[in-house]
Amino acid sequence: NEVCLNGEWMKPEEAQISVFDRGFMLGDALYEVIPFYDGKVFALEEHLDRLKYSLSQIRFDFEVKKLVPFILQAVERSSYAEEDAAVYLQLSRGTAPRTHFFPQSSEPNFLVYSFPVKLKDFEQRSWRLLLAEDIRWHRCDIKTTSYLANTMLNDESHRLGLDETLLFRDGKITEGSHSTAFFVKDNVIYTHPEGPEILSGITRKIVIDLCRELSLDIREESYRLEDFENLDEVFLTGTTTQVMMITDIFFEGSKIFSRPEAGPVTQKLQKAFKEKTRNCQA
Ligand code: PLP
Repeated sequence: NEVCLNGEWMKPEEAQISVFDRGFMLGDALYEVIPFYDGKVFALEEHLDRLKYSLSQIRFDFEVKKLVPFILQAVERSSYAEEDAAVYLQLSRGTAPRTHFFPQSSEPNFLVYSFPVKLKDFEQRSWRLLLAEDIRWHRCDIKTTSYLANTMLNDESHRLGLDETLLFRDGKITEGSHSTAFFVKDNVIYTHPEGPEILSGITRKIVIDLCRELSLDIREESYRLEDFENLDEVFLTGTTTQVMMITDIFFEGSKIFSRPEAGPVTQKLQKAFKEKTRNCQA
């Protein structure tokens, strides 16, 4: 499939940007991953709003509406237009002589492409996690491509044959290396409040709304490490992760959480999430 670079569709091997692109040199770039269920875009406005927020935080002027036709074309033009897919969108401040301050004028570079993704049957899958200290910076609310710390952390679990790394800072769980974390204890659901310590997940917001619709007790409060004893359920959320049940969590060589089957709260939310994303189809 072709990729779209600055509004033009071309073969990936033909897509070229300058070595002086600020995304390439400094990680001065933002990104989004937008899901398509059965070929239909889901939560596009929410993703564009988050991109607008990230842009405002890094003093980057860009009209996000300009990207919409290319996001839609990315799937329409693909060979899997009727199936589940996701669009990767990256926007860099553009090409300019390398400076530590933001250049006054630079032409942004944007890249859009789609890829097929298995969104179906997510409730039949499960993940095992590694718990590790959150070594990231203090602006995790900005969806930047500067994900070296996230990839270092994710690679730690990957090397152990696990699926994702759950992060803690000052004794509190923040989120996963590329997902939002939810904890269920005594029928109360906890997730870290929005702020600079986490990315404000689109799926997080959808799941919080579903909790409220289902009259579940959801609290935007961080979960503490010392409360891991007698923890009932853990699930992670994300655009391609959706609502993923967690069966095991490992920390410093021992297993600190184990639950082989999805708990009742996770199951309820998975069902509601599926209905929401599949337009109420069973
Ligand atoms: N937290 C981090 C650090 C992420 O990178 C992601 C997604 O990539 C998420 C949470 C989940 O966000 P969303 O639900 O918008 O995909």
